Amino acid sequence: MIFAAKKTFKGGVHPLENKHYTESCPIEPVPTPRQLVLPLVQHIGAPCKPLVQKKQTVALGEPIGRSDAYVSAPIHSPVNGVVKDIALASHPVIGRTTAVYLEAVPEENPPRIPQPQRFDEHFDPGTFTPEQICTAIQEAGLVGMGGAGFPTRVKIDPNPAMPKHTLIINGCECEPYITCDYRIMLEWTWQILAGIRLAARAAGCQTVRIGIEDNKPEAVKAFEQALSRCRCEEDIQVVVVKTKYPQGGERQLIRAVLGKQVPTGGIPPQIGVCVLNVATCAAIAEAVVFQKPLTHRVVTVTGRAIARPGNYYVPIGMSVQDLLAHCGGLTERAAKVVLGGPMMGFAIADLTTPLTKTCGALTVLTREDVTEPKYARQQTACIRCGRCLAVCPEGLNPTKIAHAVKHFRMDRAEQYYLSACIECGSCSYVCPAHIELAGYIKTGKLLKAREKKRLG
Ligand code: SF4
Ligand code: SF4
Repeated sequence: MIFAAKKTFKGGVHPLENKHYTESCPIEPVPTPRQLVLPLVQHIGAPCKPLVQKKQTVALGEPIGRSDAYVSAPIHSPVNGVVKDIALASHPVIGRTTAVYLEAVPEENPPRIPQPQRFDEHFDPGTFTPEQICTAIQEAGLVGMGGAGFPTRVKIDPNPAMPKHTLIINGCECEPYITCDYRIMLEWTWQILAGIRLAARAAGCQTVRIGIEDNKPEAVKAFEQALSRCRCEEDIQVVVVKTKYPQGGERQLIRAVLGKQVPTGGIPPQIGVCVLNVATCAAIAEAVVFQKPLTHRVVTVTGRAIARPGNYYVPIGMSVQDLLAHCGGLTERAAKVVLGGPMMGFAIADLTTPLTKTCGALTVLTREDVTEPKYARQQTACIRCGRCLAVCPEGLNPTKIAHAVKHFRMDRAEQYYLSACIECGSCSYVCPAHIELAGYIKTGKLLKAREKKRLG
């Protein structure tokens, strides 16, 4: 084990963790709902096209959407059911998009139970070739489950122009409230380790570092114990990093674990590194060993306004309202439902919004949460205190970018590295003038993407 607690990234903030609501809640499968909605956009890259038609019967695990593009990932049915419609649906990030509506008979679709006990210290990744691993990952529709949603196959595919030597596993889960990764690290340790070894084999990485924040000693212990019993040929070590937000950011984790900097605007393979989230590794193990596509995931449902907070194993495509109902519904104190955590999540107005592959949490904030002085006060003029610059983990000047976006000067925003922002929200969090800097920056990125599409 390596303690790198002092070697963290520059900048960042320390929001209240609020993990106590769910950190001791074991993963619990939920019953299959009657209706599921599968958006055809659940990843970065080309959207899928539907492979099914209205009234068609589909089987559990059957592909229902696919694209021929390299940067894409197929989408599979989480149930045995019937296609009711292919129509627009709410999407947590892009507003509305085309989706496949499925109807399922709950009695014919018992809850899927995770089976981490099928993995142990005897697992041998050598029984699969790198090509077999890459193909299984692609066919299973795996994407980064930490939130980014980049197709996993594209990430680990060997690239002779940028050979990878180190695989970093992201077990930080720095976003407040969320504990789904923490629980799978405790409950699915062997499965994650199997996925890690398969990914390292496919990507050609000889060195693996599992980065875990120092506020999760139980997770560190679980991996240490597993590694001591496993006869791994690979160089795998746990690196304990400082608890700080956004420590789980890909570039920030590389900085903390390896002390290396990914060039601004660059990608980790440029320095020979590949980063995968722990949940993605667990999914890799299922996909490669049991040919199971990504149809379910663990979601933390949390906050003071939830009757039964916990970590739930849910079918992708289940609606927010169905999951909230399963958790006992909302109490009257509920004021805001956020997909994700309070720092990087998206507040939603439509509770029929379905959960996607990248959604790891539903955080319900109360009136007290959203009327805390930090949020309640009116925005005022910038007082040039420089706090936003001091906390920006990417070393950007958030106030200058936001100012350029506000005046639709996208050329100038880009001169200040708009695209390099990781949308962590640290700048907005510390701003004493309550300027929604990260909001302006996100809007700027959206405007830029629309402009590119229009020209393009
Ligand atoms: S500018 Fe972007 S990366 Fe920097 S603190 Fe703000 S949101 Fe985070
Ligand atoms: S933190 Fe807010 S007030 Fe301070 S410089 Fe940045 S934008 Fe201005």
